[in-house]
Amino acid sequence: MDCKKSRIVSDRLREEALDMKLFEQVKDYAVEYMNNIPDQPVSPDQNSIDGLNVFREPLSVDSGDPYEIIGMLHQYGSSATVAQTGGRYFGFVNGGIIPVSLAAKWLSDTWDQNAALYIMSPVTSVLEEVCEKWLIDLFNFPAETAAGFVGGTSTALLCGLTAGRNRLMEQLGYDVSKKGLFNAPEIRVILGEGAHSSVYKALSILGLGSERAIKIPMDHQGRMSVDAVTKLDSRTLLVLQAGNVNTGSFDNFEVLCQKARAAGSWVHVDGAFGLWAAASNKLKYLTKGIENANSWSLDAHKTLNAPYDNGIIMCADREALTKALHMTGSYIIYSDKRDGMLYTPDMSRRARAVELWAALKSLGKNGVSELVEDLHDKSVYFAEKLQQNNFIIHNNVTFNQILTSVGNPDITEKTLNKIQASGNCWCGGAKWNNVPVIRISICSYRTTYEDIDRSLDAFIKAREEILKDIEGTL
Ligand SMILES: *Cc1c(COP(=O)(O)O)cnc(C)c1O
Repeated sequence: MDCKKSRIVSDRLREEALDMKLFEQVKDYAVEYMNNIPDQPVSPDQNSIDGLNVFREPLSVDSGDPYEIIGMLHQYGSSATVAQTGGRYFGFVNGGIIPVSLAAKWLSDTWDQNAALYIMSPVTSVLEEVCEKWLIDLFNFPAETAAGFVGGTSTALLCGLTAGRNRLMEQLGYDVSKKGLFNAPEIRVILGEGAHSSVYKALSILGLGSERAIKIPMDHQGRMSVDAVTKLDSRTLLVLQAGNVNTGSFDNFEVLCQKARAAGSWVHVDGAFGLWAAASNKLKYLTKGIENANSWSLDAHKTLNAPYDNGIIMCADREALTKALHMTGSYIIYSDKRDGMLYTPDMSRRARAVELWAALKSLGKNGVSELVEDLHDKSVYFAEKLQQNNFIIHNNVTFNQILTSVGNPDITEKTLNKIQASGNCWCGGAKWNNVPVIRISICSYRTTYEDIDRSLDAFIKAREEILKDIEGTL
């Protein structure tokens, strides 16, 4: 038998790997996309959505042509994207994309590094080490703080809460990572009523029970009521928040972290988008005392405007984090350098730190500070303009989130639908104090004051049209 049998597909792929024209073509498509983004409807129109049906085909038996594949993706895919990298997308808390950070991602995607171990990618290991130091510096965190680079805050939360759970139980004489939760000493989880749903998800995955957590009432801005936090002790995992997902408000870290520390509790801060306030000269008053927590989860893909899939877990207790996430195997070669997999649940993982490094290097300390302050200033401007035009503002715009409505719940919802369908800008909806509100998040450096004026016009026009419709039916 001839064991050198040639596989046609590998021959073809090797040929394609040498064909640089394909990559030139992709570059042209990408540049065309970037140029068109300011004029593209912010959410895809029905035509573009219908166009997506071309993708719903059975897997072909034969191989496809790379130019046709990329052409199809650009023709039908690009137009059905949400124009999140433009200036008038205000949905969720989705950041834009810093140019050099995207460019760095292109290059590092080409490297296709595995960030698990130093020996697999020295460059990624070093950039992770550098990013860790820079983040500690930006946020003024304890010098020994560890950072792990994960997909997003949801995963980062899981890491921080695992480290906290394990450390608390260890102090009670129990090794939960080895023995499991079956005979574990009880610990208590305390969180705010306004905690993000990803906190509940993490608690449920960790066996701490999403319903078992003690919920502290929130004040009118979504902050944990400080006086209601009474039962802190060394069996307590306290979850605080930097940036309520609706109002953008911040818990009182100064008082709560101090109290928790004195009681021997573990404090985790969900700072998905709000932790970046700590890097702003003008806004760091919002995060005062946050450095006294034990762990923090945050995203680089929101406020910092790094590309997506860029979350960070930071933990002041390096050992607690690495012990919780450590893995062994006879073929795993740990080094005396930084092995990234010690800080994340993943083993194989892409080199996210490259984009983070490029974003931070592009901005510098002053740039990060200015970026965050700019998002805040524009949010204040948008809220003022809305108020001048008789929209109700439901929150103090201390950061980058605005909750607004027209007063009447039904008209608010209809107005929001009209705004979303207009293609001029996009915002989501939420309920605040049980009333429907329009949720605006200014989270991209691309947003200009002109973008806000144009979006304001879309708000006013949508409300007018809804009111006219209602009058017509009376
Ligand atoms: C976005 C967000 C999360 C979840 O982060 P992902 O990166 O989407 O996993 C958690 N908490 C808050 C406050 C958020 O805004």
